[in-house]
Amino acid sequence: MGHQGAEGLPPHVLLFPLPIQGHVNSMLKLAELLCLADIHVTMLVSDYSHGRLLKHANIQSRLARYPGFCFRTISDGLPEDHPRAGDRAMEVIPSMKTVTGPLFKAMMISNNCLASENRRPVTCIVADGVLGFAGDFALEKGIPLIYFHSASSCCFWSCFCLHELIEAGDIPLKGNGMDMLVSSVPGMEDFLRRRDLPGFCRVNDVADPYLQIIKVGCKQTPRAQGVIENTFDDLEGPILSQIRNQCPNLYSVGPLHAHLKARLAEKMKSSTASSNSFWEEDRSCMTWLDSQPSKSVIYVSFGSITVLTRDQLLEFWFGLINSGRRFLWVMRPDSIAGDNGDSQIPTELLNGTKERGYMVSWAPQEDVLTHPAIGGFLTHSGWNSTLESIIAGVPMICWPYIADQFINSRFVSEVWKIGLDMKDTCDRLIVETMIRDLMEARKDEFQQRANQMAKLAKQAVHEGGSSYSNVDRLIDYIKSMII
Ligand code: UDP
Repeated sequence: MGHQGAEGLPPHVLLFPLPIQGHVNSMLKLAELLCLADIHVTMLVSDYSHGRLLKHANIQSRLARYPGFCFRTISDGLPEDHPRAGDRAMEVIPSMKTVTGPLFKAMMISNNCLASENRRPVTCIVADGVLGFAGDFALEKGIPLIYFHSASSCCFWSCFCLHELIEAGDIPLKGNGMDMLVSSVPGMEDFLRRRDLPGFCRVNDVADPYLQIIKVGCKQTPRAQGVIENTFDDLEGPILSQIRNQCPNLYSVGPLHAHLKARLAEKMKSSTASSNSFWEEDRSCMTWLDSQPSKSVIYVSFGSITVLTRDQLLEFWFGLINSGRRFLWVMRPDSIAGDNGDSQIPTELLNGTKERGYMVSWAPQEDVLTHPAIGGFLTHSGWNSTLESIIAGVPMICWPYIADQFINSRFVSEVWKIGLDMKDTCDRLIVETMIRDLMEARKDEFQQRANQMAKLAKQAVHEGGSSYSNVDRLIDYIKSMII
């Protein structure tokens, strides 16, 4: 990949996330970490996500401090008016494969692998684990390839074993025997039930296209020169050891959001929180939190994709009101199925919310979770949310909706024991009871373990910590590719 006049120029990394909020968010943090090490970074995002970042995250001015950073955009293959949420969110995976894949290849070839006067052609591709076509291209052109997993390592590892799970008859999940333990994911034999398998396994047919893309993609991981995991050794150590048997050059660098903050504080004497939000953040909730007692509020958010039915909305709402606790609830404008704004909400819910609750359409979540008034998190168990809660020491109630969330919630409740798993139920009495357990009856026990894990997470991303030294090692590796 020689390029005339490239001598003396830094390495040039292409970062290519799956263009949904959680994946773009964590990869942008990695982008900034690489830029801090004077590596050139091109971040390839969909037109849709780029538009949202420009509109809501003030991204242009923030990233201007890194002269080595630039965005490139590409179609995600979905029509402009596609909802990109709810049960249709994952349609982006096959559309990226069929539409974006060929566009990507053409873009790379016609632009000499994104070389310019001041940039080498791409010297390394860091691609989301589900974007197999980016890996194919890297291999074809002899460009070093590193896979990036923005979901949990426990999810990746269970997906790596999909073939064995199918052979054992655990997949397809047809809704029966859901509490049976599965035995073909090494390291999880004692606690992983069928219902805890990632959402892609909840299919009637093993030929399901999402399941197949994930299965093939994961098995291909060892073809890359390295793998980056947004996790830390004290959290997922035993699982990381399993993965290392297949992919020895593994970099566990998380939690990335906190890692970036730590490095910014060190290097620039500023730890300004950086938002990568696709929605406008409503900071008024921070002022509301300021007036609430310590650890009295349960924060409720189901991330960027979840869509609730009206029944589910009411069960959660009644559960929250009946628990008598204060709450801060993120209700995205597009998060209620079939909502046309004129549905009647029972008066007791409206009154209870006025008394003890606060609602926003999108919150500055990292800041919310570190606010002293927060005592619990009712979450969909998205991996970013889980990591943000862990490092903030906030115990969780998990209500997984899709993908890795089903296995994340099992780890939260059974492995790390820092919360409760409510999966596959949505009932006001259960919501109320779990809130009372988390915030009152078993509060001390959860808080103690959450504090312990938060301490380990912070250690990991500071000098001398495992994630910190792994980022140093990753930077050295990327730099070594051009020598
Ligand atoms: N988030 C936010 N404000 C909100 C809700 C979510 O900033 O009101 C952020 C959250 O901090 C996290 C991301 O959106 O970084 C959601 O990612 P996650 O992996 O938890 O779930 P997903 O949205 O991918 O389902």
